[in-house]
Amino acid sequence: MRARLDHLVTSALQQGSAVPAFTCYDFTTALAVVAAAEESGRGVILLVAPKTAATPNGLRLIGALRGLADAAAVPVAVQLDHASDLQVMADAVAAGADSVLADGSSLPYEDNIALVQAARELLGPDVVLEAELGGLAGDEDRAFSADQAGVAVAGLTDSAQVEEFVSRTGAELLAVAVGNVHGKYKGEPQLRWDVLQDIAVRTHIPLVLHGASGIPAEELVKAASMNVGKVNFNTELRTGVLATLEEQLPAHRSDGENLQGLLGHWNQSAGSFATTTLATLTR
Ligand SMILES: [Zn+2]
Repeated sequence: MRARLDHLVTSALQQGSAVPAFTCYDFTTALAVVAAAEESGRGVILLVAPKTAATPNGLRLIGALRGLADAAAVPVAVQLDHASDLQVMADAVAAGADSVLADGSSLPYEDNIALVQAARELLGPDVVLEAELGGLAGDEDRAFSADQAGVAVAGLTDSAQVEEFVSRTGAELLAVAVGNVHGKYKGEPQLRWDVLQDIAVRTHIPLVLHGASGIPAEELVKAASMNVGKVNFNTELRTGVLATLEEQLPAHRSDGENLQGLLGHWNQSAGSFATTTLATLTR
């Protein structure tokens, strides 16, 4: 069912839980994620990468995700992830996205604020806006293998800027950089709970943790107590699906080019990751 992303997250936080958000490059993954959410009786967020949304087929995928979300038995929101292009934002919303991460985190502070304000002006009050303060290292869509040493941590969110940033942007959610990275971690992830705590006391809007793949479950369960109500997953989901496909491909080729059977394994891999993650973040 349709749900405002901020309401979904706020009501989860009131129960001490966070809502997972999963990047969907395709419809098979989205079907698996929504089915897992329905089975667990929890809401979920479907993320669409900006590179996906920048293509005509990507906009059709958003339309399909919209239909899937609306027909689901649990609240499902569809968010355009990490967008800095206003045209892509407008197109994604017209196609069915109900939330946008207006990401100016790589820009100077004032330009970051101006981007979120421009997104609000363009998209209106009904589209839920997430903003991001502090630079996240890594590539959202491609993780680097261990021998490439993973990615280092970029700039942490400056907690002294949080209060003003939130009030001037009017964002409903704030993505923070507290030692989390996109892609694979270089060594053990070192989350700065002290910085997160400092941010959490300065704003009342829900916080968002990106790059949660690779952060151990025992760390993730602490997130909601620091007002982190949304946690984004991408790399681990892809890793699982790709490993499954690699393993299953030869048998399904020899089984009469059995694509349908292979897609069943894809669904199972994505679904079991979503189920585990939903359980981890739920109190
Ligand atoms: Zn991200």
